Amino acid sequence: MDIVFKCPSCHQQLEVEAAAAGQTIGCPACGKPILIPQPDAGNIKVGIAAHTSAASKEEKHFSVPVSEKPVELLIKKSLPTLEAAAAKDGTRKMRVKTVRHSDCKEVGHDNFDAAVTRILNEIGDENIVSITPLNYSYVELGSQKILADFGVMIIYRG
Ligand SMILES: [Zn+2]
Repeated sequence: MDIVFKCPSCHQQLEVEAAAAGQTIGCPACGKPILIPQPDAGNIKVGIAAHTSAASKEEKHFSVPVSEKPVELLIKKSLPTLEAAAAKDGTRKMRVKTVRHSDCKEVGHDNFDAAVTRILNEIGDENIVSITPLNYSYVELGSQKILADFGVMIIYRG
């Protein structure tokens, strides 16, 4: 391709091979040294520019099958997610599981952590929406005293 530019001294329009860009030549009209500019959209010869845009159209045409592949992959990837979401919406509801520490105590044993662990594993971590600690009071049957205790409220889909 050719670079079209004007001599800065005499404004003579000049055409030079793009390979000569960056070189200094003597102006054929006025003889003063001219630095040949780098080729860009502004100084590439019109005929060449048309050919270049035709070439880029060609490139776009060839790039279409290439760009289809990622789109297909995206669709394939997103479909199971959408199906899973639809299944969740259709069959799964928001649920609450409250675990009280006092309910997990047996004589000599504290099963609270084990009970919560078992419940969490049964629900599955992908279904857990939130886990909220609780503080509550209750009347102990044996002593009839009001005791403070703790628990956990698990909100999940299931
Ligand atoms: Zn000149």
